[in-house]
Amino acid sequence: MATVSLPTEIQPRVPQGAFKNEPFTDFKAPENFRKMHEALELVRGQLGREYRLIIGGHRVTTEGKIRSLDPSRPSQVVGVHQKAGAEHAEQAMQAALRAFEFWSRTLVSERTSLLLAAAEIIRKRKFEFCAWLTYEVGKNWAEADADVGETIDFLEFYAREALRLAEAKTPIQLAGEKNELIYIPLGVGAVIPPWNFPFAIMAGMTAAAIVTGNTVVLKPSSDSPTIAAKFVEVLEEAGMPGGVVNFCPGSGAAFGNAIVEHPKTRFIVFTGSKPVGLEIHERAAKAQPGQIWIKRTILEMGGKDSIVVCADAEVDTAVEGVVASAFGFSGQKCSACSRAIVEASIYDAFVEKLRERVEKLTVGDPVANHNLGPVVNKAALDSILGYIETGKKEGRLVAGGNAIETEAGGYFLEPTVFADIAPDAVIAQEEIFGPVLAVIKVENFKEGLKVANNSEYGLTGAVYTSDRERLDLARQEFHVGNLYLNRKCTGAMVGAHPFGGFNMSGTDSKAGGPDYLLLFTQAKSVAEKL
Ligand code: NAD
Repeated sequence: MATVSLPTEIQPRVPQGAFKNEPFTDFKAPENFRKMHEALELVRGQLGREYRLIIGGHRVTTEGKIRSLDPSRPSQVVGVHQKAGAEHAEQAMQAALRAFEFWSRTLVSERTSLLLAAAEIIRKRKFEFCAWLTYEVGKNWAEADADVGETIDFLEFYAREALRLAEAKTPIQLAGEKNELIYIPLGVGAVIPPWNFPFAIMAGMTAAAIVTGNTVVLKPSSDSPTIAAKFVEVLEEAGMPGGVVNFCPGSGAAFGNAIVEHPKTRFIVFTGSKPVGLEIHERAAKAQPGQIWIKRTILEMGGKDSIVVCADAEVDTAVEGVVASAFGFSGQKCSACSRAIVEASIYDAFVEKLRERVEKLTVGDPVANHNLGPVVNKAALDSILGYIETGKKEGRLVAGGNAIETEAGGYFLEPTVFADIAPDAVIAQEEIFGPVLAVIKVENFKEGLKVANNSEYGLTGAVYTSDRERLDLARQEFHVGNLYLNRKCTGAMVGAHPFGGFNMSGTDSKAGGPDYLLLFTQAKSVAEKL
């Protein structure tokens, strides 16, 4: 495929040195503290604005609306969005197909320049994006900062990866032939992200798709469309031509199904729950009239992640790791530890230290930067409270267990710990996606590993031990996509911890890793007789 330089508005940029992760912001520094307050104030003044669909670069208004609400004070509308229906799926697809004609042929350097320019804009307005995450999904400052930092990382990392892929060499040159292997884009993709990393995962999946020359229809989660709208605005500011990313908030059932089933959809990149991932997989598998390819699905789904704590571990360190993994962002991470599996000889001491540590956590408005903010919406609150009731029947309540009522009606929950949970209990098997931790007693490490692997999921896991043999055994036997040894099981860093799970946790696509962009391409081998 010939590549051309198009008269786009994208200013040429090259990566500045080797990839480095974006540093975390120290909010204790007075200047950063002040900047975050100013950003919260700035964004507060912009809440409730209306955003339009963006199809082929044009703003489109629909009759139906989606209102994204602040989970700390649900009467506060964060953004009013249009609700795309099946007819908009068709329009967005046509716009994306038209854009594919030129975008797939642009120089890779133009596409990487777009990502680098977007990273630059976001870096400059980091506090502002943190504030949007605080209002739209209830992230405290550090969680919001990690989400924004990861967004920048994905843009910077995939820009470098795309350049590397463009330089890829065929392993063997036959005598008398010129042999090439060229990675070409697939076509139009549907990008379907979750709300819990509404910036990083949404932007990362979109960036990977477009930097490799595809065009996309982006359907954000209805809980977090505003941060996605902000990202598309950033891409436009960075010079993205119309139609490369078509922004279409809409319901999963109507719009989501329409775009997944569309015969011209070439691939679907999804992150979300197991049931929805499996449904998309099934729908995508059915060839539609006129469809001439097998749709590719890249599906990253839920988790039921365990930390195994051995008797020889440094208990205080293990407690810190479990608490950070279980209750960071109120347990609303696919990587969150929801099962602590502890050796019998330290079990009682561990549970007691855990209780003391959990009781020190503060819950409240993320604007005021508490340890735990709200859960994302009323349905999540009700579902988690249901699991807490189940937990009360299945084990011993050690900490928490209640919703916290506030004047503004936010969806707050106490960090909750249940001890003496059986490995096959409901709360030890089902993804709760909230601040609920099950503690399970085991006789020894081998049993601990068995319990950890006793799950349909296989996303993250950790082991705390000072024993080299146990670490090696965990390396071999602990069946998860992201294994951590003597550290928490959350907080994957782009490049260092390529992220994706086994079994029902997904297709193990390893976002932020060296193989990720390949998933958005097809390789064409060309042999020319010399
Ligand atoms: P979800 O499955 O409810 O929704 C994810 C996305 O799918 C949303 O945009 C939603 O609107 C859309 N959707 C819903 N039904 C659809 C349909 N029929 N067709 C097309 N799209 C549809 O998940 P969520 O509540 O947004 O996110 C939480 C889940 O995501 C948890 O299970 C969590 O473990 C998982 N998650 C996984 C990873 C990972 O990397 N494995 C990362 C983050 C979150």
